[in-house]
Amino acid sequence: MSSPYHLQGIPTTTLADEFGLPLYVYDADRIIDQINQFRAAFRGVNLKIKYATKALTNLSILKLMRMQGVEVDVVSVNEARLARMAGYAPGQIMYTPSGNAWTEIEEAIRMGLRLNVDSLPLLEQVGETYGSSVPVCLRINPSVADGGNLKIQTGHADSKFGIPHALRADIARVVAHYGIVVEGLHVHTGSDFKSARTFLQGAEVLFDLAGDYPDLQFMDFGSGFKVAYREGDHVTDMAELGAAMSEAFGAFCARYGRELELWFEPGKFLVSESGHLLVGVNVVKQHPTRTFVQVDSGLNHLIRPMMYDAYHEIVNLSNPAGTPTTYDVVGYICETDTFATNRVLPEVRPGDVLSIENAGAYGFSMASTYNLRSRPAEVLIYEGTAHLIRQRDTFEDLTRGMVDVDLLNTVETI
Ligand SMILES: *Cc1c(COP(=O)(O)O)cnc(C)c1O
Repeated sequence: MSSPYHLQGIPTTTLADEFGLPLYVYDADRIIDQINQFRAAFRGVNLKIKYATKALTNLSILKLMRMQGVEVDVVSVNEARLARMAGYAPGQIMYTPSGNAWTEIEEAIRMGLRLNVDSLPLLEQVGETYGSSVPVCLRINPSVADGGNLKIQTGHADSKFGIPHALRADIARVVAHYGIVVEGLHVHTGSDFKSARTFLQGAEVLFDLAGDYPDLQFMDFGSGFKVAYREGDHVTDMAELGAAMSEAFGAFCARYGRELELWFEPGKFLVSESGHLLVGVNVVKQHPTRTFVQVDSGLNHLIRPMMYDAYHEIVNLSNPAGTPTTYDVVGYICETDTFATNRVLPEVRPGDVLSIENAGAYGFSMASTYNLRSRPAEVLIYEGTAHLIRQRDTFEDLTRGMVDVDLLNTVETI
């Protein structure tokens, strides 16, 4: 079992000593476990996992995925370039734009990526420019929603994503007009659906639509698999979903007359729990109504609490047996910058190392250099050894690209 205190047998605080703080640490075993759990849930179908690169965008993580037989979904050409560096063949990379520039789409096509088309105008343009020579996948918006956080839902009718299912006839007309080969259908209902039922509703929309397209190779059901951020959180029951989806998909393939591949694009599910953001405590200060723990990190490194009101467990690695005390854990950014409010932790002292849990997905990949702060280093623990997989930004990294125009035309130097 993994514990925040020991990762693959390595005492976590020694990583802080070795690599410095703040530090992102990822446990490869945890990622591999999640992949295996995913596969186990979908036994009996022709499953392909396409890791959503944007969740944790690091060369070594992509290499780990590739070693595990996991392919990738990318949302930008730069992510695709990184996937190529990690050894992926173009055909293993699904490119899912969201209103991206036509010049970038053309580049993706030149690179030989698989193209997921997210709008009718883009479908037109691909047809007009490439006719039948570029196969496409169609990203359909099924107008399915299931409560939860609106910021991370993508499958409801008012969401910007995909081609509305209501335009079914228009899609078919454009496809027929240009002779476009439709090799896949895609739906991604976002990261906050609550039940297997919502997933199956989205699936039924695609199964029905498949009747319009005889050349399908795969159906891509995106992602949206939840993991627990705190005890008692609703999570996706993978076994239940896998069994229900496998059965529904099997029945669909029988109707369709051919065995298709079943694709998923998990991001958060594969990497969230592997990640720990280790931070150091700078100051503990008592105000009349609350006690603040001020750490050497902030929303520049992990924006989820401020952006999504996300809850992240926090562990005091340095003083696990301390007296339980209530704190607000806050960052050092000059804005409201709160990791946790009214959180009970074992007594926190200056110099303690805290671990912010579940930091693997949308942690580093959404980090910025706001306040001209360095982004943390990243470490991957693989087969019992800690590997530095990204260096901490230096001051030179932060200022690279700034051009000194000498506006005042002075000869003074700073
Ligand atoms: C972000 C994204 C995913 C991954 O979503 P998770 O909730 O992290 O699993 C999958 N597919 C597409 C197209 C995405 O944009």
